[in-house]
Amino acid sequence: MIETKNKQQSQFDIQGDLPDAVRVTNAMEGFLSEFGPQASSYMNACIRCGLCAEACHFYLETGDAKYTPIHKVKPFEEAYHRTTGPFSWLAGLLGMAPAITLNELEEWEELIYDSCTLCGRCTLVCPMGIDIAELVKEARSGMYKAGLMPDRLAQITRNAESKHSPFGEPREFITAIRKIEKEFAIKLPVDKPKADLLLTLAPGDLEEHHASVHVLAKILDHLGIDWTLSSVAFEATNFGYLSGSTEVQSELTCRLIDKAREIGATTLLLPECGHAWGAARWEAARWYGAPIDDIRIMHTLELLAENITSGALKVKTVNDSASFHDPCQQIRRGGLVEAPRIIMKALGLELRELEDHGEASFCCGGGGGVLANARAEPLRLKAFDLKRRQFEATDADHFLTSCGQCRLQFDKGAKATDWDRHVESLLELVGRNMILK
Ligand code: SF4
Ligand code: SF4
Repeated sequence: MIETKNKQQSQFDIQGDLPDAVRVTNAMEGFLSEFGPQASSYMNACIRCGLCAEACHFYLETGDAKYTPIHKVKPFEEAYHRTTGPFSWLAGLLGMAPAITLNELEEWEELIYDSCTLCGRCTLVCPMGIDIAELVKEARSGMYKAGLMPDRLAQITRNAESKHSPFGEPREFITAIRKIEKEFAIKLPVDKPKADLLLTLAPGDLEEHHASVHVLAKILDHLGIDWTLSSVAFEATNFGYLSGSTEVQSELTCRLIDKAREIGATTLLLPECGHAWGAARWEAARWYGAPIDDIRIMHTLELLAENITSGALKVKTVNDSASFHDPCQQIRRGGLVEAPRIIMKALGLELRELEDHGEASFCCGGGGGVLANARAEPLRLKAFDLKRRQFEATDADHFLTSCGQCRLQFDKGAKATDWDRHVESLLELVGRNMILK
C-alpha cells in the first residue's frame, strides 16, 4: 500500500540511490517480471520489416531512425535474449548478448518516455501483431525500478506516492470543487454515503476545464441519476500507468473501485480522459485477479451516446462542420470509435474526418505521460504539427475531441506556434446544446 502521510522518500527515489549494477539488474527484472508468454512471443517474432516506423508520428515527423518503434525496446529485447529467451545460455556463453550498462539505460530513457505516447498505432500495422506500445509500457516498469524517469513525471509520481494523488490531497480537491461551485453557482455532491454513480475527474478538469465538470453535473442531474463525487477517490488519471509503477497504478485504480463498492454505486463514471479509460476499464481486473462485474466502468462518451440514442438526452442541432481527433486510448486501444460519431450526428454536425481517423488516427503527441515531460516539448510540437496540417485540410468549423489531455496538448501546440484555432470538448459542446425540458 502507498503511505499517504509523512513519507520520507518515494520508492522511485530509493531506486535512484542504489549502486549502478543493482539498478541495471532491477530494470531488467522489472521488465521481465511483466513478461508473459505473449510478450515473449513478440520478442521472437519481429521480422525487421520496418512497417512500424511509418506508423509512428515521432519517426514520420523527425525522420530519425532511433524513433522506429521496435528500436525503442532494444535494451529490453537484449535482456530477454540474454536471460530468458531460447538459447539464452548459449548467447551468454559466447558473449553474443552483451550486458546492458546504466549509461545505456539512461540514454534509452528518452526513447521510452519522450518518444512514445503508448498510442498503439505501430501495433495496428505490424504484420506479426507485435504490441510495441505494451512492450514500451513494460519497459517503463523496468526504468521505474532503476530510478530512471523524466523529472516532471517523477515529481507527479512522487505526489501520487506521498500526497494521496497527483492532483493533491482531499482538502485540495475540496478547494477546487468549491471554486467550480462558485464559478457556476451550483452545488456539487461530495462524499454522499450512498449513491448509484461515482463520478471521477482528471486534474485538467479541476485546474482548467471547469466547464466539463459543470456539464457532467448538469447531465447527471437531468438524467435523474443519484450520484456523488468522493474527496478520497476522485482521481481518474493514473500516473502509475504512465510512469511504470505498478504499485501506484494498482493503488489509484483500486481506490476508485473500492470506494464505488463502499457507497453501493453500480457505475464508476470516467471523465474526458484517455488513459484513465485504459487503466480502469481494461486493467482493473489485474489488481483484483478477477473481472469487475459488479460495477460498470463507464466512459463519458458512453454516457452521452447511450442516453442520446435512448432519447433520455436531447440536443439542439448545431448545423456546422466539424472534425474530430480520436484519442488513442479511447478509440484505437479502447473500443469507443462509434460513440463520438453518434453524438456528433445527433448534434447535426457535418463530420469532416481527418485523413487518418478512427482506429488509424495519429496521436495528439501528448499521451502516455509525454505531455507532463518538459524535455519532450520539441517532439510534442512535431506531432502537433502533423495533426494541425490534417485538421486545416478539412477546413471544418469545429475541431473537437473527447480527452482533456489531448486538449491541453493542442492548446500548448497552438500557443507555441501562434495557431489561432482552438480544440473544443465534445462534452462541453453537448452541454451548451442540451435541451433541458
Ligand atoms: S506506440 Fe505510438 S508513439 Fe509509441 S512507438 Fe508506437 S506509434 Fe510510436
Ligand atoms: S512492423 Fe512489426 S515485424 Fe516489422 S519491424 Fe516493426 S515490430 Fe518488427
